[in-house]
Order: sequence, then structure tokens, then C-alpha cells
Amino acid sequence: MSERTEIRGARHWRTGEPVDVTIEGGVIANVRPAGAKATTSGAIVEAAEAILAPGLVDIHVHLREPGQSSSETVESGAAAAAAGGFTAVACMPNTSPVVDNPGWIAWLLARARGVRCRVHPIAAVTVGQAGEQLTEFVSLEAAGAVALSDDGRPIQSAETMRRALEYARHTRLPILCHEEDLTLRGQGQMNEGATATRLGLRGIPNAAETVMVRRDLDLVELTGGRVHFCHLSCEGSFGAVRDAKRRGLEVTAETCPHYWTLTDEALIDFDTHAKMNPPLRSERDRDATIEAIGDGTIDCFATDHAPHTLEDKRQPFDQAPFGIVGLETALGLTITQLVKPGCLTLERALELWTEAPRRVLGLPEVRLEPSFPADLVLLDPHASWTVDPERFRSLGRNTPFGGWTLTGRALATWCGGVLTHMVPGLGAEGRHARPAGAGAR
Ligand SMILES: [Zn+2]
Repeated sequence: MSERTEIRGARHWRTGEPVDVTIEGGVIANVRPAGAKATTSGAIVEAAEAILAPGLVDIHVHLREPGQSSSETVESGAAAAAAGGFTAVACMPNTSPVVDNPGWIAWLLARARGVRCRVHPIAAVTVGQAGEQLTEFVSLEAAGAVALSDDGRPIQSAETMRRALEYARHTRLPILCHEEDLTLRGQGQMNEGATATRLGLRGIPNAAETVMVRRDLDLVELTGGRVHFCHLSCEGSFGAVRDAKRRGLEVTAETCPHYWTLTDEALIDFDTHAKMNPPLRSERDRDATIEAIGDGTIDCFATDHAPHTLEDKRQPFDQAPFGIVGLETALGLTITQLVKPGCLTLERALELWTEAPRRVLGLPEVRLEPSFPADLVLLDPHASWTVDPERFRSLGRNTPFGGWTLTGRALATWCGGVLTHMVPGLGAEGRHARPAGAGAR
């Protein structure tokens, strides 16, 4: 890709200094103080002091392929990612069929060629995610899997989990754990507590998550294996991880924007768009989430982007599937709910969406320096916008944030130097940006 782009007058996400950046051949060619002389061939983007940062990375998305392309496709999910400022995503294997062999990893990588975001497949831990027979970790890694997970269908047998952790030590792959004891979840539909009682819905106790977090911490201690905890949602889980880290265990954890933004009160109108798993918890858990982000118990952010068709979500509450989309609201919810109230600096918030998830999965580094891949996002942390699910690039419209006014959004995204997203107006208001269309890997 020999496309050349000049980004002028952006603010460096770390130093805050105004910079001009040249992208050429898919990489950052140079970064210099704004206003320095440069050639003017190729596209020019006047950044008008918007922040330039490495592209966001989401290590927990559901792209629904193979098998459920009415909910999302690799292509539509990648377009949603680009619109949200993301340049890389890792996709979960709980598809139909399950991504549990090297053939499906190769299929996904082929499917992801030319889409608007880098796609890193995650492979199942057990065949068919049935929780019994382990998959071929070594050949899955060789085929390009970046992690292992039975997300959506957590491994109930401690013995199977022990063997998985031991086997995974022969690879560099972490096991991404969706922590849930299915016997404690039972027929639960939402967080157990006063709101569930008021609505007459069956509850899911915090313990459904915490007993599994504690089990797997014990198994990490036993095996020396490597675990990353997905979408942690409650006080007890954060406490257990905090304590484990203090004891020197090498574990990592993520949480998602909905857990620092909403509580189970969001379900008061039986809104299936707020039905998710783990469920939205209490105000106390929401506070604990923000505390765990602040003190480093949480290593990175992720969206758990889980698109469903409206038809599926319009079913009666107890039959509607769990999950919400997240790629196109993640940055706005981060800035609105964490940065604006002063819980987190913008720089730290961006770290948790960029360098931190790359570290968790061992993905190559992206720095705002010459010769690094031009995987970049130009973002306006002050832009106010209204969430309109009808305008999502994702096929999923299932969000509880429709109609919300958020602060902060991605103005433009480049993946491997290719422009993958630009808000209308940025190129039009006398600013000369030429959209390069799709095609990045
Ligand atoms: Zn999950």
C-alpha cells in the first residue's frame, strides 16, 4: 500500500504536543513538530488539534462467523470496529460451528483479508466448547490463533481446566476465561437483588462469577498456567484478582464499558437491550469496577461486542439472548463515564484500549513513531454526539445506549495506512482528505 497521507496539526496522545505525521507505505514515515515543512503529495487531513493515538484494540468481540451472519459478519464487525476507532480485534470462537480446529482459523484469516480492521482469531479450549476434550493448542497457535477461550460456554470441570492450563504452557497462548458457574446461574436472567425481585425475574448471584474466578486462581497457582479473566463485573472478582496479583500470580483481567456505566436498574422496563452476561450488577459493583480500573487490578478494556438480530432481542425477556454491541460506543462511554468525571486521565484511558490489550495477547507494538505500522486513530475527546443505532456499521442494533449523548469520538481511523473510517465533514469542511476505501490487513 503506497498510499501517502499527511495528518497536520494533531495532538500527540502522550506528549500533548502539536505534530504533523506522514503515513507512507502502510507505516508511519515521520512524526515532527506541527508546521515543519513537508511535501504535499497525497491526501491531507487537517486535524485541528484532535488527538492522534495508536488505533484501539478490542480483544473480546463476537463476529458471529462462521454460521450466524444475520447477526454480524467479519466484514460488518470490522467496519463497526473502524468506526469506533479500532484497528485490531480478537474474535471469540463460540460460533456455529465452533472455531476449534486450524481449518476454521485459516478460514477466518482468509475471510478477514481486505476488511477494515485487523482480525485475530481466538480458538476454543475444548472441542465444540463441550468442556471435555481439549483442542490441538499447538496447531491452533501455528495456524494463527492468538488465544484460547470457551467464552459463552465456560469450562465447568476443574480437572479439564487444569489440563488446559498445563497444555497451554507449551504455547504462548493465554486462556481467556468467561467465569460463570452454570449451576449457580441456573435459569437466572439478570443480577440477583432488589431489582430482580421487583421485576419478578430470576437472579444470577455475584457468586456465579466469583467462585469460578477463585477456582481458576487456585488452578493457576497449581499449574503455573496463564489466565486472562474476561468481562469481570463484580466487587468479589476484583478483590480476588487484586489479592492474587499482590501474591505475584501472573494473571490479567478486563472489564467492559457497560459495567462502569450501568447497573441492573437499566432493566427496569424489561429492556432486553440491557440483558447481558455477566449481568449488570449493583451500584456497589459499579463503584468497585471504577476502583479496580483506577488501581490497576484491571489490565485492559474490552467491549464483549455481542450482536444479535432485533428479532432475537424482541423475544420475551426470559427467551431473549444475552449480549449488547459495543464497538461503536466504547470510546464515547470511556470518555463520558471515566475521563470527564476525572476517574481516569485520557492518556491512561487510551493506554487501556491500546498498549494494554496488545500486551495481554502479545500482539505487536504500535507506537506513534517512525517505522511502526500506521494503525492510528484521530479522536476528538470533546465532540458531543448522539448514539443512533440505525447508523451503526454493525449489523447489531442491540444497545442500551440508543439516544444517549456521549462525549468523545473517533474522527478518522487508519489501518496499515489505509483510511478505514472518517466522520462526514472532516474531509468536507475545506479539509482535503481522500477516503481510500476498504482494504486493510
Ligand atoms: Zn463471555
